[in-house]
Amino acid sequence: MRKGSPHLVRDLNRSAVLRLIGREGPIARAEIARRLRLSPATVTAVTRRMIAAGLVKVVDQAPSRGGRPALLLGLVGGAANALGVKVAADHLVGVRVDLDAEVVERFEHPFQADHPDALDRLADLLRPYTEPRVDSPLFLGVGLGVPGVVDGGDHKTVESPMLGWRSLPVGEILEKRLGVPVLVDNDVNTLAVAGRLYGRGKDVDHFLTVTIGRGVGLGIIVGGDLYRGAHGGAGEFGHIAVVEDGPLCECGKHGCLEALVADPALVARGEREGLLRPGETVHRLRELAESGDLRAARIFADAGSILGRAVAGLVNVLSPELVLISGEGTQAWPQLSASFHRGLTEAVFPPLGSVPVEIDPWDDAKWALGAAALVLRATFVTPLDERSSDHSVRARLEPLAAG
Ligand SMILES: [Zn+2]
Repeated sequence: MRKGSPHLVRDLNRSAVLRLIGREGPIARAEIARRLRLSPATVTAVTRRMIAAGLVKVVDQAPSRGGRPALLLGLVGGAANALGVKVAADHLVGVRVDLDAEVVERFEHPFQADHPDALDRLADLLRPYTEPRVDSPLFLGVGLGVPGVVDGGDHKTVESPMLGWRSLPVGEILEKRLGVPVLVDNDVNTLAVAGRLYGRGKDVDHFLTVTIGRGVGLGIIVGGDLYRGAHGGAGEFGHIAVVEDGPLCECGKHGCLEALVADPALVARGEREGLLRPGETVHRLRELAESGDLRAARIFADAGSILGRAVAGLVNVLSPELVLISGEGTQAWPQLSASFHRGLTEAVFPPLGSVPVEIDPWDDAKWALGAAALVLRATFVTPLDERSSDHSVRARLEPLAAG
């Protein structure tokens, strides 16, 4: 049992019980008591208040040998809402979710990220979704997924060539404008976290999420958690050097993976080879390949091969249990697949060659759900992997738990 002032002990116990139910619910009271080394009476008192407050409910019964079946407790999804938003250069996609990560509302707005007043406009677009609702009076915070590097400290300052944001304190500015916690992370990281919490990676401790499309991204889950590196920039897979003196990349260097296989590179080659007229997109190139144009098919096949070899490099270094390929570029997977697998097989270290590669069908809302997961995870992270901003989210939820 913890020692300290009675108030502090009660708050710590409540916080620990709430995190455990959020993280591992549905869970029985006896299991909570055992895991947190609390007395059954304390757990009963704490959870009774949470049930009365509408934050926790009995969701199921576990069979038990003899005696009464144990009641399993879980969070009440509708007790609180959070917002997840994926910001792209020309639009944003958002979802309002409940505590169970069920999507309550989905929206999309045109948004010009490089406009001088972009953050004011962003705050105006998001404000209506952050206000308390009749169906869910408590709003926890906004999670924002952005293409770029988000600093590893407070996760609020963004460096994104794609959005035209240079050392922009996005989180801080939006928090001031909206008056709610705002958590920011790289969009592929949020996608990987969503995969870990709610998706294919739920039971996989080591996996990679590779995204293709407008850019090439990577989210690394190691030992069940996101690997961020020393400065939050881990996962800049798109900028590994593939060829010497290759095409110019958005990052300023030449020959990056992204400059060879991302959509703009495919379109540029399509134009050079006279397959696309200026202004036509990768969709047109895909149509050509689908309709049997061999030169268009060659462009995708070359990209697939380069990507497969690059992913083999990741597999050799990180030895994941699973590689998920996601992003809007997966729409061209039928054109990429054969050469991707050939490239992967050729370049992978043989004992690691059996790693499964799965396509995670592209859905813009999935990115937004990942951003919402930034906020939801704050309700159940352990103190060890906590960020400062997680506390501001929990500070909104825990008074409710006190009943
Ligand atoms: Zn680059």
